Amino acid sequence: MAEFTMELNDEQKEVRDWLHGFAADVIRPAAAEWDEREETPWPVIQEAAKVGIYSLDFYAQQYFDQTGLGIPMAMEELFWGDAGIALSIVGTGLAAVGVLANGTEEQIGTWVPQMYGDANDVKLAAFCSSEPDAGSDVASMRTRAVYDEAKDEWVINGTKTWATNGGIANVHVVVAVVDPELGSKGHASFIIPPNTPGLAQGQKFKKHGIRASHTAEVILDNVRVPGSCLLGGKEKLDERLARARERAKAAGGGERVKNAAMATFEASRPAVGAMAVGTARAAYEVALDYAMTREQFGRPIIDNQGVAFQLAEMRTQIDAARLLVWRASWMAINGKPFTAAEGSMSKLFASETAKKVTAQAIQILGGNGYTREYPVERMHRDSAIYTIFEGTSEIQRLVIARTLSGMSIR
Ligand SMILES: Cc1cc2nc3c(=O)[nH]c(=O)nc-3n(C[C@H](O)[C@H](O)[C@H](O)COP(=O)(O)OP(=O)(O)OC[C@H]3O[C@@H](n4cnc5c(N)ncnc54)[C@H](O)[C@@H]3O)c2cc1C
Repeated sequence: MAEFTMELNDEQKEVRDWLHGFAADVIRPAAAEWDEREETPWPVIQEAAKVGIYSLDFYAQQYFDQTGLGIPMAMEELFWGDAGIALSIVGTGLAAVGVLANGTEEQIGTWVPQMYGDANDVKLAAFCSSEPDAGSDVASMRTRAVYDEAKDEWVINGTKTWATNGGIANVHVVVAVVDPELGSKGHASFIIPPNTPGLAQGQKFKKHGIRASHTAEVILDNVRVPGSCLLGGKEKLDERLARARERAKAAGGGERVKNAAMATFEASRPAVGAMAVGTARAAYEVALDYAMTREQFGRPIIDNQGVAFQLAEMRTQIDAARLLVWRASWMAINGKPFTAAEGSMSKLFASETAKKVTAQAIQILGGNGYTREYPVERMHRDSAIYTIFEGTSEIQRLVIARTLSGMSIR
């Protein structure tokens, strides 16, 4: 197990500086254009693929870094560049993690490379869990997967919503109900291979922020996939369902089954916290620079405590958020139990910080902050997503409170 450290090693510093260069030279200059176009920034993703940032190798290297700092460091730098473009670059990685975590070696080897494609033919992947009636309440998911034993195929029907890269991805990872009695323990994940009949994009959403990232409904109408597309395989699923049925019986109902499922998100939430830290830091830097140079009443506006104290507060919150994110990320990779829901804590604090700090940045820039001439307006719109996806702030508080108390708080 790696000791917790707050210091990046030399190799990590090199990677951070390389990512920062890409974020500053390629992502940031393209941010306003793709925000206005509200389209997937293919040329930027291609550029990221060319230099090796958009690749399985790079993502896996950061993901398996035992210090736990690889992913948060990478997320912070890319999202510092721009949240919408960065999500277009890392969205595939979020789907790939679903396969890396639950797939067999064969599934990983077959599907993950197809999620990325290569620098000359870039592909995307999408992770589809949310539904119109199952957002925070994952257990009420309706998309159904039924096994057709005669053909060794799964037949999937349902509507997914809010899927990042949904419908434009080469490979979709879809979560579906295989046993409705078991709440979220009766779910399983499936690979939907490229060009599978029955999968179609529904509505593409016009969003408040992260507008360069494609978000859409995914309709599954009698989608048939081979048995080999069930992540982890049928034998493992049958064993898992049998265990869940036993536990549900022993617990006397579904409630505890639902609570246990919530804990599985703990490990992925620090990554979203790190994205929020990136956006917050970006806005803070613009605000600090502006406050040092903008003069009113014959002196820089930072010469007023009213402005300077805001900046002091912003920086303190960002550093505190990063520390929570790094701690949770180190715990996740080293298998430390999240006895106080530290993963949720880090996401809650970092996402709320990003919303607050970007709003303060607009205030410090005054009228300029309110226009699209300056990036803090976009950063503020972008930051609103962090308190919503991967579990809203209210759900994070619920998870933390339940973990601390051991009670089914509603
Ligand atoms: C841009 C974007 C990208 C996304 N990408 C993906 C993706 O790639 N894949 C995917 O599967 N999903 C994705 N999502 C979905 C996202 O995870 C959900 O939007 C989120 O989980 C919230 O669900 P909901 O929108 O249905 O809100 P709801 O669950 O309906 O919540 C509405 C409000 O009620 C509150 N609330 C609900 N239950 C409780 C409770 N028990 N106690 C207190 N308050 C409560 C919530 O906190 C929230 O404020 C994305 C969403 C967006 C907007």
